[in-house]
Amino acid sequence: MLLGQLEKINGEAMVRDAETARQVTAKILHLIQTQGESAHTPTCHATSYSVNTRDVQTILNILYILSELLTVGKGRRVGVFVSKGGTGILFQILLSNSKELPPSEELMLQLHSLLAKVGSKDRKFGVKARLSGALNVTVNLVKQNLQNAKLLLPCLQVLRVYSTNSVNAISLGKNGVVELMFKIIAPYSKKNTSLLKVALDALGALLKSKTNARRAVDGGHVPVLLALYLDWHRNDTRHRHMLIRKGLLVSLRNITNIKLGRKAFLEADGMRILYNSSTECLPVRTLDPLVNTSSLIMRKCFPKNRLPLPTIKSAFQYQLPHVPAAGPVAQLYSQPPGVDDVVDESDDNDETEADTENDTENEEDEKDHHTSNDDIETDLNKLHPKKNPGRPFEELRVYERFFSELSEDFQVILFLKNGIPTAQALSPKRVPMSSSQEDVNPTKGQNPQLPPSTSTSTPPAPLTPLQLDTIHLSKDQNTKDEAHIPSTDGHATLSTLTRPPPQGQTIEQELAHVLECVSLDDEAGEGAVLEVPDTALLLPLHDPDVYVEMVKGTHSVPQYAEVAYPDYFGHITPTFREPHQERVYGVQRSKIFQDIERLIHPNDILDKVVYDLDIPSCPVIEDDGESLKFNSQFESGNLRKAIQVRKYEYDLVLNSDINSNHYHQWFYFEVSGMRVGTTYRFNIINCEKSNSQFNYGMQVLMYSVQEAISGRPRWVRTGTDICYYKNHFARSSIAAGGQKGKSYYTLTFSTSFRHKDDVCYFAYHYPYTYSTLKMHLSKLEALRTPQIYLRQDVLCETLGGNSCPLLTITAMPESNSNDHICQFRNRPLIFLSARVHPGETNASWVMKGTLEFLMGTSPLASSLREAYIFKIVPMLNPDGVVNGNHRCSLSGEDLNRQWQNPNPELHPTIYHTKSLLQYLAHIQRAPLVFCDYHGHSRKKNVFMYGCSVKETVWQSNISATSSDLQEDLGYRALPKILSQIAPAFSMASCSFVVERSKESTARVVVWREIGVQRSYTMESTLCGCDQGKYKGLQIGTRELEEMGAQFCVALLRLKRLTGLRNHQHLLDLEKTQVHKSMYTLDECIKRSLMMYIFRTRSSLS
Ligand SMILES: [Zn+2]
Repeated sequence: MLLGQLEKINGEAMVRDAETARQVTAKILHLIQTQGESAHTPTCHATSYSVNTRDVQTILNILYILSELLTVGKGRRVGVFVSKGGTGILFQILLSNSKELPPSEELMLQLHSLLAKVGSKDRKFGVKARLSGALNVTVNLVKQNLQNAKLLLPCLQVLRVYSTNSVNAISLGKNGVVELMFKIIAPYSKKNTSLLKVALDALGALLKSKTNARRAVDGGHVPVLLALYLDWHRNDTRHRHMLIRKGLLVSLRNITNIKLGRKAFLEADGMRILYNSSTECLPVRTLDPLVNTSSLIMRKCFPKNRLPLPTIKSAFQYQLPHVPAAGPVAQLYSQPPGVDDVVDESDDNDETEADTENDTENEEDEKDHHTSNDDIETDLNKLHPKKNPGRPFEELRVYERFFSELSEDFQVILFLKNGIPTAQALSPKRVPMSSSQEDVNPTKGQNPQLPPSTSTSTPPAPLTPLQLDTIHLSKDQNTKDEAHIPSTDGHATLSTLTRPPPQGQTIEQELAHVLECVSLDDEAGEGAVLEVPDTALLLPLHDPDVYVEMVKGTHSVPQYAEVAYPDYFGHITPTFREPHQERVYGVQRSKIFQDIERLIHPNDILDKVVYDLDIPSCPVIEDDGESLKFNSQFESGNLRKAIQVRKYEYDLVLNSDINSNHYHQWFYFEVSGMRVGTTYRFNIINCEKSNSQFNYGMQVLMYSVQEAISGRPRWVRTGTDICYYKNHFARSSIAAGGQKGKSYYTLTFSTSFRHKDDVCYFAYHYPYTYSTLKMHLSKLEALRTPQIYLRQDVLCETLGGNSCPLLTITAMPESNSNDHICQFRNRPLIFLSARVHPGETNASWVMKGTLEFLMGTSPLASSLREAYIFKIVPMLNPDGVVNGNHRCSLSGEDLNRQWQNPNPELHPTIYHTKSLLQYLAHIQRAPLVFCDYHGHSRKKNVFMYGCSVKETVWQSNISATSSDLQEDLGYRALPKILSQIAPAFSMASCSFVVERSKESTARVVVWREIGVQRSYTMESTLCGCDQGKYKGLQIGTRELEEMGAQFCVALLRLKRLTGLRNHQHLLDLEKTQVHKSMYTLDECIKRSLMMYIFRTRSSLS
């Protein structure tokens, strides 16, 4: 009621009314002050009465009232005040009273105090201030009252809020506010610190604008900021003014977002100043924010270096039979000769980096998640599987030969001849050891292979005798005998290198210890124990002599003549657990500081090249005993260059995939000449992915030859101080998809060596070479029993001249009766493939588990063989594997993006695998399940990607009629079963959404064109598990092989489910598993989808 009167009198502002108003407001103020918190007067009412009031005392009284009211009740009252338009009224008062000269200081002070209080709660504060013209009023006040701390403080507080609006920031900059702030900030003093703090906050906000940052640089303020920071750093010894120090750094951080700012920072010796101050701050944990911001600034300003390479194109060249008209390879070939592709003008990207104060950076994970939603297929036509007949049947008929089990006349061949089938009878086409079997290649005639050419002029080295002279295990004859590998003539003979191992007994004991049968908790009552093939048990399937034989028939572009010991000796899974490595606090920061040190103390850096594939005589290193020796010139090896940067620290550069200028991730190299007990640091400096499981517990793998010959041939997880971070090597836009200003990433790890005169190997993941596959396949023959039908064909030859094996595994018909032959021929087909991506070696280990299970003697394995015919292409990209590629084939392309239109010449393995499937579709025998095994570098566990119209529609929000959504739910059964029986498998990580970027992958094409509903990609982690039995452990070959075996068991269960032809069963399965409740299947799927949406998904398939 009182306030109602006020409104009336304020309108005309007559003297009498003003007098009344003064009295009334004074009274209200008194009331409120005396009643304190019990004052329940709605704040908002007070506001509407001050408009146009010209009486200063009245306004002041009202402002006091407001101030009192807004102080109590926390932010709620401020919110009400804002919502009733209070901010606008305050601005009006500010404006009208500013016209009085001089304006009442008390009034201005009160107004600004109130505005400061309100500003942070009003999202449109900045806009309102600008539109009302209040910006200049405040600015002028500040200008006129630089010495008046009492009035200055609230004004700066308001200015701080204005500046957070980017348009205001620019306009304030124009009015000289940046310069103004620089007048206020001052050297160390105990006085007016809160004023200084607010001024710095405002300055920091203003400098987010690039024009303001430029203004600060032009005004010569970068050295000023650095000097001030140093002054506060030196004088604030008790760390009472962290916020001021941080404020100075934030201003520097924002200025250095522009190129000019970085230049000024470097010129002002900023690197050294921040490096030294940060080093002094390091021991005090509470100063971490200062160290982190300093580190961020230094990383940004660190001059971008070029990779120490002549070109980013692979060090090896392979001339393609023809260059595709478009695409990455065409681009690579069209590049003018002599162009420097290592760097470009890439520093003109003024990227604003997130202020990552924490130790890890996963900003890009977020990005991935967002882009993935744009990637969902929304075209319903594309979502509905449309069987595509592909090539005419006449053309496909040639593939009939790979399905002789569907027509073979067992009556004649097997049963009448010898009574029992023989291995030979069924395997007319073994995997060829040489090119003599090329006649089985159906495409031989039409695809003449051009001989591979290499970049080096050295003639091909003779393949025999095998040169193992890079191995110098002992030069000192006094060390213990059994460790010696004679190498006096430089050519160690294989027999001395192999067996019997000097401590054969130890191996026996260890094997016995390792022997384990993993039994499955078999809920469905299969009633059997699954004997998971253990690597130790299976070491008989590894034969070094056979391996060497296989290597001789393997064709690599660099014509490798050496064999890496781990592939030669084999690998036995360690018996100990290998948990995820816990990350020590501050590791990344200290590594980055060591990198920055290189710039601060350049004289401490050796910069000594110790390995270089780009020089023809590589590796020629004078052996002064001061450097490690590196080598990777063996199958699957990948190391291009090694540079000793400090006594015990090396920068390593990986080679690009052949016919490509990027894809660096996979590595496999040899190290020797080490000192025992010394810690070495290795930095792989040209990684490309924005984040890595190396930041989340994954370690690298190491293999010691000394350990191997002492009876422990095995890869072990190793490395401390591991982290993965963005470095200062510029990535050429040519290799970054046209994006400028990108950097590479460093994977760093430290390790020490236990043995003198050892030869050790490091790898990204457990290596599995093409020669290993061939050895393994030849050894699989030995597992054949009269009941097993095993046939090995050569599907085709690759560009590089390697054959691509195709396996057929099933059970022999029970007898030659018509019924049994008929059952045999009518078994559903299961089609499996793996290793289209060479760097995903885990896929090969899973495949090994599958193959060995299928060839096993367990009742489950027999049932499985009797239930299905298995068609398996265990390595879709032999050339990539052989040549140490990470992702591509020799054509420089990702083969798993070629399934829509594979080219018979450039992508023969994909072309012929797809043709096999097309042939099957033509004869109405499309497989029941198709699964392509992959590895995943950024997620934990094992999981599947499948294809579902319904789930894609749900996630994309496109409208669809219910008939569009008619879908058999069978695609969920297999992953569901796997999540029940395989401890590494996680249903929660599975996705059944069809993405546009994946439309040319095996999974999507086989689903859409061949019409296979259960078409999957199975992704195995490179790191480890975060759920189930293996939670907290890194994954090993045992778990990977077990996964492969359990995939088979799941297929057997699937057989029983599909045999019922009744989805009620499936529903039960889903219900009991997902949530022992009454959810319908759809709800279950929706729930898991909802959970999935919150997870990140990688772009890899
Ligand atoms: Zn993959």
